[in-house]
Amino acid sequence: MMTDCQTRMYIDGQWCGAEGKGKLAVINPATEEPCAEVACGGAADARRAIDAAERALPGWSGRTAYERADILKATADLMRQRADRIARLMTIEQGKPLAESKGETLATAAFFEWYAEEAKRLYGRIVPHHVPTKRHFVIHHPVGICAAIAPWNFPILLPVRKIAPAIAAGCTNVTRPASQTPLCLMEVFRCLDEAGLPPGVANLVTGPAGEIADVLLADPRVRKIGFTGSNEVGQELMRKAADQVKKISLELGGHAPFIIFPDVDVEQAARTAVTAKFRNNGQVCISASRFYVHPDRREEFTEAVVRFAKTLKLGNGLDDGVEIGPMFEQAAVDKTIGLIEDAQSKGAAVLCGGRRSERFERGFFFEPAVVTGLTRDMRIMRTEPFSPILPILEFTGVDDAIRQANDTPYGLASYVLTNDINTAVNMAERLEFGMVGINDFTPATAQCPFGGMKASGFGREGGIEGIEDYVSAKHVCLGVTA
Ligand code: NAP
Repeated sequence: MMTDCQTRMYIDGQWCGAEGKGKLAVINPATEEPCAEVACGGAADARRAIDAAERALPGWSGRTAYERADILKATADLMRQRADRIARLMTIEQGKPLAESKGETLATAAFFEWYAEEAKRLYGRIVPHHVPTKRHFVIHHPVGICAAIAPWNFPILLPVRKIAPAIAAGCTNVTRPASQTPLCLMEVFRCLDEAGLPPGVANLVTGPAGEIADVLLADPRVRKIGFTGSNEVGQELMRKAADQVKKISLELGGHAPFIIFPDVDVEQAARTAVTAKFRNNGQVCISASRFYVHPDRREEFTEAVVRFAKTLKLGNGLDDGVEIGPMFEQAAVDKTIGLIEDAQSKGAAVLCGGRRSERFERGFFFEPAVVTGLTRDMRIMRTEPFSPILPILEFTGVDDAIRQANDTPYGLASYVLTNDINTAVNMAERLEFGMVGINDFTPATAQCPFGGMKASGFGREGGIEGIEDYVSAKHVCLGVTA
């Protein structure tokens, strides 16, 4: 059990236990042992956090963008100084290899820095008047108290994509982290606190998701919900937000196609496919879920993918050289096995992996799977897999690739490997996804918009777009003497 990390909630600038005094065990997925116990708050704590955010709002929104930016930038600097410590906590509670945790920590710091700068660029407009007796100004008004709810797979990046633009815009915030990954986010809140964030501007409430979310949704003082997670929960929150016409943004699931054109180096493409698919065990919303290869190159590609998948080093993410950590929880392992069994029962072939690793006595370790012989009726082809399974399919040309790729209710990320500029442009323009990675499989960065189309949600995080959800445009119409 770790004793050197923060385990309490952060409300009104104070670290505090839960009013009901409950505790929630955080499990290390590599050992299945509890690594910490955190405060388990509830409705009363959520209300206290909203009260604090309400008190802080006039002062915070009244500060200049430059003052807000200084605190955001100082937070980014502190996170970078403490990146090793934050990353270690993330690996212990989430399972991903240390290098990935460090990457997420630095990417998260970049969001604080980006929105420190965007705070200063939140320009209004002067619009030409059509009659001599009027003048028109458009200014931005902070939305108010904003809530953030996010899952465990990127435990600090996803909340901070919501917190950073909110406080940059002059809003205040209440965040509810995923139950099983609160520790590294608590360290981020430590950075905010030490960077000089005034009490109540950002609050962290741990505890049961439904109970806390219901308070956030029912309280009319909360004006915006930023949610990342599953479609089922996102739809439920959207329905509840409708009662108060509460603003909501939804970053939901995906089913990303990965299209490999025959003009690329197949060996290199296979290596890229394996890296892209098995990062974080495929537990990534933008993880590629369907790999389309031209029939002329399929055999060669499949052989190379299996070869690379078999060499991936599985183990505790804290150990040197580990490329794949444990899956997040037993339920994730069970779901993955269910997808594989369903596909096999309908004729698919598993070329490697696809079972719980026997090399480990404890921990949710799963052998990365490569699967062929897929058909549309298999569950893995219809629902978001969120698992370490690499399915290989075929396509014949650009039109066929577009048809198959877009044939999904989801529209989050998509990928194309090609050296042909015309193919690249054609695909980029016709794919119905919020992100298109061309010869790149991580299209996510602080300075660009991230988000989905269709059932993958709406709203954008990152880029200049990411702050728009946190302000309302206000038209100031000034009557003047002509
Ligand atoms: P989830 O079950 O929807 O959980 C997401 C968050 O919502 C967690 O904090 C969870 O709390 C909370 N939650 C659960 N039930 C709730 C309820 N009834 N009311 C309010 N909050 C509730 O999602 P997940 O399975 O953990 O996460 C994986 C999903 O997230 C995948 O579908 C993935 O694609 C999606 N995702 C999307 C993006 C994106 O940017 N588009 C990024 C990453 C992940 P607990 O922790 O207590 O369960």
